[in-house]
Amino acid sequence: MTRNKLVVLGGGISGYGSAILAKKEGFDVFLSDRGRIADRYKAKLEEWEVPYEEGSHDEARILAASEVVKSPGIPESAPIVRRIRAAGIPVVSEIEFAGRYLDGARCICVTGSNGKTTTTSLVYKILRDAGFNVALGGNIGESFAYSVATGSYDWYVLELSSFQLDGMYDFRVDVGVLMNITPDHLDRYDHCFQNYVDSKMRITRNQLPADAFVFSGDDPVIAGELPKYDLRQRLLPFTARAGAASTTAASEAPASADEAAATVGTTSDAASASTAAAADGARLDGGCFTARLGDRCVTLDTACMRICGLHNAYNAMAAALAALAAGVDEASIRRSICAFDPVEHRLEPVAEKEGVLWINDSKATNVDSVWYALESMTRPVVWIAGGTDKGNDYEPLKAFARAKVRTLVCMGLDNAKLVREFTGVVPEVISTSSLDEAMTAARRAARRGDAVLLSPACASFDLFKNYEHRGACFKEWVAANA
Ligand code: ADP
Repeated sequence: MTRNKLVVLGGGISGYGSAILAKKEGFDVFLSDRGRIADRYKAKLEEWEVPYEEGSHDEARILAASEVVKSPGIPESAPIVRRIRAAGIPVVSEIEFAGRYLDGARCICVTGSNGKTTTTSLVYKILRDAGFNVALGGNIGESFAYSVATGSYDWYVLELSSFQLDGMYDFRVDVGVLMNITPDHLDRYDHCFQNYVDSKMRITRNQLPADAFVFSGDDPVIAGELPKYDLRQRLLPFTARAGAASTTAASEAPASADEAAATVGTTSDAASASTAAAADGARLDGGCFTARLGDRCVTLDTACMRICGLHNAYNAMAAALAALAAGVDEASIRRSICAFDPVEHRLEPVAEKEGVLWINDSKATNVDSVWYALESMTRPVVWIAGGTDKGNDYEPLKAFARAKVRTLVCMGLDNAKLVREFTGVVPEVISTSSLDEAMTAARRAARRGDAVLLSPACASFDLFKNYEHRGACFKEWVAANA
């Protein structure tokens, strides 16, 4: 085994970028994907003369590696990963690998169960508008590793999933942002919520006192974690709880995933209070927020923002703090936040037709994100939900459903659970099994002044390829038929 034999497992966006970076850095690199590699990535691999295989794994070649860069989509349970582990070969993520070649560039990394893409995109916009030499990457935009290989940036703004964080060991985040932690992806974490929580908290690893950690001061799970870590970096909590006072312990954090899900959006006093006393941080009060870092301060009326709802106030506060930590001036931060449009498929207003506003929130694949979607609704709602249920507990949604939803249109191959849960909670529940049926029912149910909200709380795989496909079908239908 030679020291520089590197194998990249997975030929998706993170894999092809890692392979090209490895090639550039002089590794003897080989990329292996058991499935098919997209033509555009194959073209890049060929251009860089990176040897690769698809459709199978050449085990002997893979097990000769001195290190493996594993794509975040490949679970630990995959047989090839088990064999690599059994052979004692170190396995890292793209972030860990590419982070070794930053050459002084700095990273703002955003993680959390919800709000990552919105916040990452917003931070990126703020830095770019302010004239920073910045690249966007991680789960969105270009592959981080590819940008490191081919660009020369001063800043990277990265969206990090828990899977990227799992393979991160020495990488140091200059500005870490943790939006929230609610149960998700538990199938990849032995159905143990704490494993997933531990993974999210890895974002604080290796941070130095001059680095910044931006986090939700209202999230009971995060509050429960903070005392377990000896955090020396600058702590920048954001909170929507006006006037919260200082306490220390975060003893009211939920003990289980169920409990955490049940407290979504309700916040615990002790949790939020534990972090709110810091002078640095952000606070939402009466629709305005103030984000402060040292003697710099951004004050903003959320009514001026194009993204709405409490969750987007959180996202904006987090982005403002991250941008302050990166040294962006206050006026520029304010301007960019106000000019930021919703990211596609995230509470995206599609059209207003005959007084009915059609909103595409196809990305809302879990209960927590739907909670925030319903929270933000100011009109009566015809709510389209359903799909592949990931073991949802719908209880936290019922209060908003009762108050705001006129009709629930269930859209899925198996609607039994949704129908059962919401019958008697909302005035009307309609079961449908195709997009066309659902949309037609929604159009019939909606009255002038209503919103039709696609916010499914479920994965899309029963009727669609993915959430993007579901959102695109929704938009096409609205354009053609609404
Ligand atoms: P992620 O990348 O973490 O999935 P997105 O920004 O794509 O996050 O948003 C995903 C869904 O979650 C959307 O439906 C959106 O309305 C909702 N959402 C966005 N920000 C938050 C937040 N801070 N807390 C809870 N839900 C959010």
